[in-house]
Amino acid sequence: MNNTACINLENVSDENVQGPTISLGQDNSESTPSLSTDSCLSSQALTNSFNIINQRFFQGKITGSIVWQVPKGMISINKGSPCYTLNGSTEELIFEQAKLAIQQGQIDKALALLTPFADKGHPDSELLVCHILKRQHKNWQGYAKAYNDHFITEMMAPAACYYPDTQIIAIHPHLHRRGAPMFVLRYLIYHECCHQIIESSESEPHSPLFMEYEEKAPFKSKALAWLSKEGFPTL
Ligand SMILES: [Zn+2]
Repeated sequence: MNNTACINLENVSDENVQGPTISLGQDNSESTPSLSTDSCLSSQALTNSFNIINQRFFQGKITGSIVWQVPKGMISINKGSPCYTLNGSTEELIFEQAKLAIQQGQIDKALALLTPFADKGHPDSELLVCHILKRQHKNWQGYAKAYNDHFITEMMAPAACYYPDTQIIAIHPHLHRRGAPMFVLRYLIYHECCHQIIESSESEPHSPLFMEYEEKAPFKSKALAWLSKEGFPTL
């Protein structure tokens, strides 16, 4: 995929690499370290990255904290990507069997039948799988987590989220599992920090003023390309 070095954040914190020599500009992109893919999520590394972005771009004015957590934000699963059409009578029959299984309360069976179609982008299968997962998980958090564990190629929860009431930035743990490059993490932190300084509404989360600030995010285009390659919804 790429040749960027993978650095274990348990051992090498941002503190060890920050300083006047490190630049967040595009010229530093060739040797950008990645997040560790080991199972232990380093909260300290996350906080270190947050502190660096906060100091460098926001004069340390951003308050609150940052955690590894599946963001609660809801993103439509229909991203307008090429839809899959059931291929022939066999697949149509399987789909009918799945619907019957739902009616008969055989939820696990229905899930097993529908998932391959949903993974391919068949809209009706996606919808039904979502309904099943929603029913199985009472709260959105559990639902989003189940969905993201379920669908590797299409993320329903955004990669990051900012909660104004608690001033918490949530970063999707999937980024850690996938060994996201550091520039992705830093871009996301920058974006979420912007949400703290620029008010937004649910109907317009990214106002023109917000986007003006957000344009200055380090590694923005590279980070967005990585996120979309990984199946995360982007702006
Ligand atoms: Zn945003």
